[in-house]
Amino acid sequence: MSIVSLSHTISADELSALKDWFVANRRPLPWRETRDPYRVWVSEIMLQQTQVVKVISYYERFMQRFPTVQDLAKAHIDDVMALWSGLGYYSRCRLMHHCSQFVVERCDGAFPSTAAELLHLPGIGPYTARAISSICFRESAGVIDGNVKRVMARRHGRPSGFVNGGEKQALQIWLDQVATTFVGHPGDLNEAWMELGATICTPKKVQCGDCPISDGCEAYKQGVVDSIPKPRLRKAPKQVELHVVMARRMGHIYLVKQVAAQLFKGLYTLPMVDLERISRSGERRGHFRHVLTHRKLDIHVWNVPAREVESLAPDGVWMMLDRLSDIGHPRWVDIACARFLDDKPL
Ligand code: SF4
Repeated sequence: MSIVSLSHTISADELSALKDWFVANRRPLPWRETRDPYRVWVSEIMLQQTQVVKVISYYERFMQRFPTVQDLAKAHIDDVMALWSGLGYYSRCRLMHHCSQFVVERCDGAFPSTAAELLHLPGIGPYTARAISSICFRESAGVIDGNVKRVMARRHGRPSGFVNGGEKQALQIWLDQVATTFVGHPGDLNEAWMELGATICTPKKVQCGDCPISDGCEAYKQGVVDSIPKPRLRKAPKQVELHVVMARRMGHIYLVKQVAAQLFKGLYTLPMVDLERISRSGERRGHFRHVLTHRKLDIHVWNVPAREVESLAPDGVWMMLDRLSDIGHPRWVDIACARFLDDKPL
């Protein structure tokens, strides 16, 4: 790993302006009303790869149902998955449930207070550990997320951003040093960086005129804000063909819990079957596309008589259609039901 050092500094006046800007402009989000590590942890896990507006209602429902880490730890995973349905990245949910049991059983129900200790918990990586330790326990530990990386790339005038290990390490050291000199709550500083990236120093339509730290920003001084960071080539999402079976019986639909599958593990889905098998006994209804972050699903829906579906896909359950929201299932199941359960032709 090549060593990188960041010579750029930030003045006490700029940090103070950043703090004042954050106090005056921060969005009133429900997880900002608390410094309870359990609540902050849940919000941070939900916010990974997911937009703030989407997370708010999930977070509120989750907190009503599982207000403490003990409540979450003793819940059945199916009930936790049901509340997570539609939020995506379901492995987060499974790991979170596992972590809650770890905290209750191995840490007497109390989250550790330092990032180094938090890293030992299942499913908690460097970002989440530092977010919890700084917001809840005042540890001077800087966090790096996508928003912070973009602000820093511009602030430091680095078109390539902070991509490789050496660059990220240098940025981490810089942020930690700034956090130790910051006069105020270290959690507020981290949130201020992230808020700046989410609302002012955005990928497009950057509002440098409203930025509290524009005086020392290299990209702003050089007039190159729009070209930093350089766009990165993203991998195209992988195309996946799914053949799913729809069978209904007296207001119920047949679903299978995915216990071993890589995709949708732990969730209930319409049975997924081989094309060869289903083409012998099923009637093809049509197909639709559903896009996940890393996958494009091409979902082919087949009708199968209720009496045949159990031999085609054993170990399923007949679930009342109006109770679907009680179980964890991916969003494409709702879409398939909405489009194909009525008897309209496609
Ligand atoms: S001055 Fe502009 S580019 Fe620099 S940090 Fe502020 S908003 Fe971002």
